[in-house]
Amino acid sequence: MAHKPHPGWGYGDFVSSFELTATNGAARAGVLRTAHGELKTPAFMPVGTKATVKSVDPDELRALGAEILLCNTYHLHFRPGADTIAELGGLHRFMAWDGPILTDSGGFQVFSLRHTIVARDDDGVTFRSVYDGDIARFTPELAARLQAELGSDIAMCLDVCPPADAARQELAEAVRLTTLWARRQRAADRAPGQLLFGISQGGADPELRRRSIEEIAELGFDGYALGGLAIGEPRPRMFEATAAASELLPEDQPRYFMGIGDPEGILEVIERGIDMFDCVLPTRNARTGTALTSQGRLNLRNAGFARDPRPLDEDCECPACTRFSRAYLRHLVNQQELLGHRLLTLHNLRFVLDLVAGARRAIERGELNTYKTAALERLGAATEVQ
Ligand SMILES: [Zn+2]
Repeated sequence: MAHKPHPGWGYGDFVSSFELTATNGAARAGVLRTAHGELKTPAFMPVGTKATVKSVDPDELRALGAEILLCNTYHLHFRPGADTIAELGGLHRFMAWDGPILTDSGGFQVFSLRHTIVARDDDGVTFRSVYDGDIARFTPELAARLQAELGSDIAMCLDVCPPADAARQELAEAVRLTTLWARRQRAADRAPGQLLFGISQGGADPELRRRSIEEIAELGFDGYALGGLAIGEPRPRMFEATAAASELLPEDQPRYFMGIGDPEGILEVIERGIDMFDCVLPTRNARTGTALTSQGRLNLRNAGFARDPRPLDEDCECPACTRFSRAYLRHLVNQQELLGHRLLTLHNLRFVLDLVAGARRAIERGELNTYKTAALERLGAATEVQ
């Protein structure tokens, strides 16, 4: 069941392409062209789970420097329904964001809400919706159809993501099913111009990760993601797995590390050859009153900020830092005022987007390592002071 997106909303004849513009060791800078425009890589994708980056207007996202957003198929399938969004002209029109959108397949939500799974077989996975407890089922064909209806620029394959402490046999089974499903989803209809990324699994097990990458790359996709990492395994193992994966992945296509977004993690995976990543951290941190700054993390609930007239971050030009004091932001956070959440979200997104833009420029100069070391030193030094 192919869905035709709204005419005149950015789709047309185009050739997708990823172009590397600079490399620095394993790190890469590039440009990915999609049906709704280009994005520069490395690229951080703010997460708009339910077709909104919580509390932020699309124009503000653009002004912060965001070039691509991530939305969640799982949530949009249940509320309001991908067919409803299709009827209203597709996801871009629905949320008034005319730039690139990547949709995940819903697989990660199903497998991380483990208690909701009813059954899994070679055909798909049956689970209870977190919205109303009703029985639902995802198959690769449905993941393709829903993402075609949403009309995202980059669709993701349905994969099986086991927990970080899964036994090797469970990891191997996830690799097997992920390949099986990727083959089926690859054969399904897509929205015009929609790119499809394959996902490798295998946790931090070098042999299983290699097997998964080889199988997925053999099928051939527009880009390749690392799934099943950053889910609680030790960080050194995660970075090791990332470096090894980069060496196995096709050089001329984008690489997406799913679910990393802390400043240190971002810089480490960029250095190991990753081009795209997403994380709810900058927006989730805002909800807990935490600001990411060039001098480390600030928890605004800390009483020390009660009379602090300084901006959150002297180096930041976001709406929160140019107009408001830490004391005022702390007051908003403590009173759970909406503006406090909004301003911290704007700041945290700006911080991460700036950090990544800086990394890109550093790659172009051939100085990523110097950039990373200096950034981490600043972040680490200040964390000790707090
Ligand atoms: Zn700021």
